[in-house]
Amino acid sequence: MRDSGNRVIVVGAGLAGLSAARRLVTQGFEVTVLEARDRVGGRTEGAVTADGTSIELGGQWVGPTQDRMYELIAELGLETFPTYNEGQTLVQLGGKTMRMAPKRGAVPKLNPFVLADLAQGMARFNRAAKTVSLDEPWMSKEAKLLDGQTFETWIRSHLHTPTGREYFRVACEAVFSTESTDLSALHALFYAHSGTDLDTLLGVDRGAQQDRVVGGTIRIAETMAAQLGDRVRLNTPVRRIVHDGDGVRVETTSGEVLEGHRVIVTLPPTLAGRLEYSPALPSWRDQLTQRLPAGSVVKLYCVYPEPFWRADGLNGQAASDEGPVKVTFDNTPPSGTPGILVGFMEANDGRTWVRRPHAERRQAAIDCFVRYFGSQAADPVEYLERDWMAEEYSRGCYGAHFTPGVWTAFGHALREPVGRIHWAGAECSPVWNGYMEGAVRSGESTADQIARLL
Ligand code: FAD
Repeated sequence: MRDSGNRVIVVGAGLAGLSAARRLVTQGFEVTVLEARDRVGGRTEGAVTADGTSIELGGQWVGPTQDRMYELIAELGLETFPTYNEGQTLVQLGGKTMRMAPKRGAVPKLNPFVLADLAQGMARFNRAAKTVSLDEPWMSKEAKLLDGQTFETWIRSHLHTPTGREYFRVACEAVFSTESTDLSALHALFYAHSGTDLDTLLGVDRGAQQDRVVGGTIRIAETMAAQLGDRVRLNTPVRRIVHDGDGVRVETTSGEVLEGHRVIVTLPPTLAGRLEYSPALPSWRDQLTQRLPAGSVVKLYCVYPEPFWRADGLNGQAASDEGPVKVTFDNTPPSGTPGILVGFMEANDGRTWVRRPHAERRQAAIDCFVRYFGSQAADPVEYLERDWMAEEYSRGCYGAHFTPGVWTAFGHALREPVGRIHWAGAECSPVWNGYMEGAVRSGESTADQIARLL
């Protein structure tokens, strides 16, 4: 195979692929980005409500310590604004509804036994998370023990009240969009450490939900793609990668062949594993991608003439152990109208409800908003949703999770290149794994890795 000079082919025009391409271009590489969809952005996606307000169907929030995202947003000439966080948050647990201050570290008014249980559980979780190595989780103290159990097993052995356990399960669904029975305890701890700690992952005030991007996060991908110009090719799904010591040949589903020096695959792990490779990938790499399933989520919106819940002293945030929409936020634009509530059907709720007719799912979502914010929520002027499991080029979200035993047996294969094939994407990042920050960091560090090799 011919070695095509300094040409790098990037598969996927999500945040990882675009930031890798951008970094490579500044280092003098010839780059082509091949994207299957008819748009860039991957798991970030923009939409507009009937009145023209920008919303996000995919990733939307940024928060403190996501330094590269804030830098990139500024570099691209974009701006952030704070998530609405005035008024109280609603918490429904064990059939009781409580109001809570929206400040970091605030706790719902639960009975003292539950409060003590939760406080101890959080402290134990955050302490254990800090001991997990971000670069090599499988080398952490207790890695085998923690990776040999599900997060549910960890919850049962560290929390002792039904409500305390339920709180952790809801948190698991909100962060991983999967059941606590699905993922490794080591992964839950790694992921929290990767994004600082559990309070940060769950919070608005100094947390991962603190800020939004004016005009929507899709503008990040669109602005990077505009800078890259015709290096980005849409509607070009990659089917096969042929590789040897001299170069790579990337074949698209339409039969087009592109030759290059190296290729960066930025697909979510399950989809990366579904491409054909010749020669076949080493067993450890293939076995890794067989074991990294995507989460299950439907992101949905109800639009109202105004954010009526604010007059009631509420900030639009709810967390409940009763679904199918267990987590909500206020996504009203800074102008103050229309009033927009965003909610998520996650894990088994998502899996169950995507099989039901659209009208039933819409009504189930509205019923949840009514339960949280009252009868004024019953009649939205608009309902929008995105089922990420049905997306051919994502097949689930927010990201992939490690099932038990995978970090310790296959973790070493996550970022290890196979010959001239490099791997990038949100799931590959030691820091803010699974988030937009992780995607950008991973894209850029993979580009730097290639630059160093040449
Ligand atoms: P992707 O965006 O998945 O990029 C991969 C690209 O490859 C896609 O464009 C895809 O179309 C393309 N592709 C797939 N198959 C092929 C093929 N065969 N050939 C060519 N191209 C192909 N993160 C946050 O930081 N904050 C949030 O608030 C947040 N909320 C989220 C909410 C939702 C509903 C979702 C879905 C995600 C959320 N995330 C959030 C996660 C965040 O969006 C992702 O981590 C990030 O966008 C992943 O970027 P990536 O480039 O690694 O992967």
